[in-house]
Amino acid sequence: MDKKNDIIAAKQSNTFLDLFFALSFFAKTDRSARIIQKSLLLKGTYLRRYRSLAVVSLFASAVLPAVAQTPRTKPVTDAQVAAITRDAILIDTHNDVTSKTVTGYNIATPNKGGQTDLARMKGFLGAEFFAVFVGAEYVNGNHAANRTLQMIDTTRTDIIAAHPNDFVFATTADEIVAAHNGHKIAALMGIEGGHAIEDSLRLLRDYYALGVRYMTLTHFNTNNWADAQGDFEDTKVKHHDGLTPFGKDVVREMNRLGMMVDISHTADKTFYDALEVSTAPIIASHSSCRAVSDHTRNMTDDMIRALAAKGGTMQINFDCAYLSQRYSDASKPLMAELRPRYMEAMKIEDPAARSAAIEKLQEESTAKLPPATLADVVAQIDHAVKVGGIDHVGIGTDFDGVGCVPVELSSYDKFPALTRALLEKGYSAADIKKIYGGNILRVMRAVEQRARELKSTPAIETAIGK
Ligand SMILES: [Zn+2]
Repeated sequence: MDKKNDIIAAKQSNTFLDLFFALSFFAKTDRSARIIQKSLLLKGTYLRRYRSLAVVSLFASAVLPAVAQTPRTKPVTDAQVAAITRDAILIDTHNDVTSKTVTGYNIATPNKGGQTDLARMKGFLGAEFFAVFVGAEYVNGNHAANRTLQMIDTTRTDIIAAHPNDFVFATTADEIVAAHNGHKIAALMGIEGGHAIEDSLRLLRDYYALGVRYMTLTHFNTNNWADAQGDFEDTKVKHHDGLTPFGKDVVREMNRLGMMVDISHTADKTFYDALEVSTAPIIASHSSCRAVSDHTRNMTDDMIRALAAKGGTMQINFDCAYLSQRYSDASKPLMAELRPRYMEAMKIEDPAARSAAIEKLQEESTAKLPPATLADVVAQIDHAVKVGGIDHVGIGTDFDGVGCVPVELSSYDKFPALTRALLEKGYSAADIKKIYGGNILRVMRAVEQRARELKSTPAIETAIGK
């Protein structure tokens, strides 16, 4: 089966998607195998070195006065952590639990093996951007708009309308703040995959009218007007060198409507084109830093700086492979090994049996890999802040859309641990509030303001190909 089909098949399972994307992209190289071999050869040297280091440090702690030793972290009290948990508006800009609710999962019941359920959101989460995720397979036969509407409906019907005491439908920054003050979770929507508009700006406007407030220009697949990072090496795919003229009009129309432009998943050139064309700040709704974990789904330092210079924000993704180079390197040979079994599992017709087989494979692979940790999330945030600035970093977990997240951050109720870690690292309460929600609220307000400025300009009517 060719790589494009691998990617399309992988998309049918939202949970295993990222792992197997890594497989289809990296299976050609044996770089990771070489790294592991090298580290095994070096292990003996390191052990000897560590032994002598341990002797030195024992001597130092016995002889040197305590004051001479620099504390590694700032002391943090439970009260400080509790105050931030209470006051910060935690906004997650990417959550895929909608792929479960659309097939009948009730968010008020425990989500075994997943990360998102009401019990673990309440009291911790201020606002959720539910992903209106449209797999590339819906392009065939023009079912993308149908799927988009179904995903919008599951958010509005199965999540918001079914749980009116817990969720409130929101489309603006002010409505998020009002929901927080009313002790409810603001529920918003972001489309994932620009093929959702079926090359029509009319559909884009319809989705805005239904409440969608961002659109990820591509998913893993290049569409008719924007290049994705997921298939940029595939010579069978027709690429456009970033955005086509129509793609640029999509960005302009999003600005005019007041819909945030999201560049997670796009090719790097698409990012730079979108940034150049957009007259409002843009976002990466769920991407981490490539300098920390070298994955093309992550952003380079240059991209982070450019995004920040235009007032945007990047929202750190909690996928183990995007967080941790260690995990990413170890997963590549394992994914290659498990690939035939995964492809077999994908052929199972019964959806429940197919999910069970894929989940079993997922558990098997997770058990064999060095998991990403809370420290990796802190390192990602810290790098993004150092490169882009404290005003340009946020949270986009990708919960229920990825196979592996750090155990210490396996849902929203675990965020106090991240709060503590950031305080210990020297971040202030004000800094943490910006990261958790303040920055994305600022971007939303800027996008809303730009739409007000463009209110009198006519709707863009370009059709593709013109
Ligand atoms: Zn995604």
